[in-house]
Amino acid sequence: MPDGVLSNQKKINQGRITKLDALIIGAGFSGLYQLLCLRDKVGLSVKVVEAGDGVGGTWYWNRYPGARCDSESHSYSYYFSDEILKEWKWSERYPGHAEVVRYLNFVADKLDLKRDINFNLRVCSATYNASENVWAVETEQGECFECTYLITAVGCLSSTNIPTFPGHESFEGEWYHTGQWPHEGVDFTGKRVGQIGTGSTGIQAVPVIAETAKHLTVFQRTANYSVPAKNGPLSKEFQEYLDANRADIKETIRTTPNGHPFVISERKVFDVNDAEREKIFEEAWEHGGLGFRACFQDIAFDKNANDVAADFIKRKIRSIVKDPKTADLLTDIDHPYATKRPPIDTNYFETYNRDNVDLVDVRSSPIECITPKGVKTGNAEYELDIIVFATGFDAMTGPLLRLNIEGRDGIKLADIWEAGPKSYLGLQIPGFPNLFTITGPGSPSVLCNMPVAIEQHVEWVTDCISFLEDNKIASIEATKDSMDKWVSHVNECADVTLMPHAKHTWYYGANIPGKPRVFMPYAGGMARYRAICDDIAKQKYIGFKLGETDTGDVWSAPSISVDDLVEAAMVKGPAV
Ligand code: NAP
Repeated sequence: MPDGVLSNQKKINQGRITKLDALIIGAGFSGLYQLLCLRDKVGLSVKVVEAGDGVGGTWYWNRYPGARCDSESHSYSYYFSDEILKEWKWSERYPGHAEVVRYLNFVADKLDLKRDINFNLRVCSATYNASENVWAVETEQGECFECTYLITAVGCLSSTNIPTFPGHESFEGEWYHTGQWPHEGVDFTGKRVGQIGTGSTGIQAVPVIAETAKHLTVFQRTANYSVPAKNGPLSKEFQEYLDANRADIKETIRTTPNGHPFVISERKVFDVNDAEREKIFEEAWEHGGLGFRACFQDIAFDKNANDVAADFIKRKIRSIVKDPKTADLLTDIDHPYATKRPPIDTNYFETYNRDNVDLVDVRSSPIECITPKGVKTGNAEYELDIIVFATGFDAMTGPLLRLNIEGRDGIKLADIWEAGPKSYLGLQIPGFPNLFTITGPGSPSVLCNMPVAIEQHVEWVTDCISFLEDNKIASIEATKDSMDKWVSHVNECADVTLMPHAKHTWYYGANIPGKPRVFMPYAGGMARYRAICDDIAKQKYIGFKLGETDTGDVWSAPSISVDDLVEAAMVKGPAV
């Protein structure tokens, strides 16, 4: 191995480099399933490295008050194993973070995965060595690995964003980011709490913090839509329905555009009269959950249709919130419904009727600084004992870039993504052979029910690695041409939705100062994406360059164009 690839730490540890076929980074939903597939199905030597001291990924870190999944529990599950589906019983319509962590521990224990997970190791660099065709991976703790295949399973929302406010370090109280919540919990009893942020996380945290805090001040920069989750225990009848209908549910979540267990209506907003439309919205509101946006087909695409849905939600907010000024602030929403990730809630708007809760508009009067005593806006200083940052994440690219990945000829991922993330299928990047990015930018990921997107990626990567192993092909690498075509297809798909009406979202990287404004996820729909990926695999990995076989032959893929495949797949499924 050329000396240049070895850092000082690695030189010290040269004697104990763990050599593997595959290394997986992260022990959440993706990492666990990828470990199972590569170890038990393909028969490779595999390890997972995980920064936390337990499995769970996103759910290991996000333990903030009210943390709960917005996908329905029965669909927020692995579907690869009928046995696991049968054995595990979710207790509520939406799983709370503790139950998701218990579920992932149950799966990891049942499949005997933990023996191949190295906990408490945070990867700090990954470097490709072309002469050996291996990845050299180092952790902050000084452990070193060498592997043929490197799979990132680091999640899309795992790199926290704590905005830089002058004076932050001078604050005399406690402060926490929701995504790095202390495992022992935080006691708000008798405390004056300030929460910055009203995204999906903030909307979940507000009602729970308000229950015990002496006073809660919510600092809102952008008002947000939210629909009631209508959470509750799952009845025995529903559990029986699940047991009897697993195959149909699996079919639904794998064929709908966003992987949820409901079908998007074919009806359009203006297909029905006002009274009928109101009734449909009312029923969807009462039923609760993400299905609200599926009650008409055109809410995500037609601004006029969207305006009608938005108006319904704003009227609902006004009917709940008693103080007219607070209601004005909460309904002064600057983007179409669902162009930012649409939250669902339990008593979010109702919480503003409590005497111990105030809403502060930091759009008209932004936060200027944090003082020793609290938060200072242009208008006032708010004295606080605890500040909660529900300020989101450096989404999608953040978790990958902090791995310091260096590919062929020393090219750095950070450099080639300087103007925004580019990849082929969200899975591979030219110059980074045998590196696979599960739910990477350019794939449906965050626009889909995550476990559905994860299973599809993991299974595709597993098949791809099996293909390489079976045919003794040394490497696979996306070509620049296929990447460029995919990036333009990703943009094309976003542009037919209303997403570009809200360019200030994390989907565009706009929440991080200096981050390039590029729409990151694939909005073409999970069903269509799956069809494209399947066709690419069937066509012997068209759009990828395959390395030499062990006999020195270069594998040649058929010469069908990526454009043709994408075009053929466009008819195979609706968009998001
Ligand atoms: P987010 O959607 O990015 O929201 C961050 C909030 O912090 C926004 O209200 C933002 O205001 C505010 N903020 C950021 N910097 C600020 C500043 N300098 N001053 C004032 N306000 C500031 O983050 P999130 O709520 O953590 O959600 C991120 C994603 O995680 C979600 O979209 C969702 O995909 C996922 N999530 C899922 C669940 C679930 O399934 N239950 C729960 C939580 C989160 P602006 O809007 O003005 O930028």
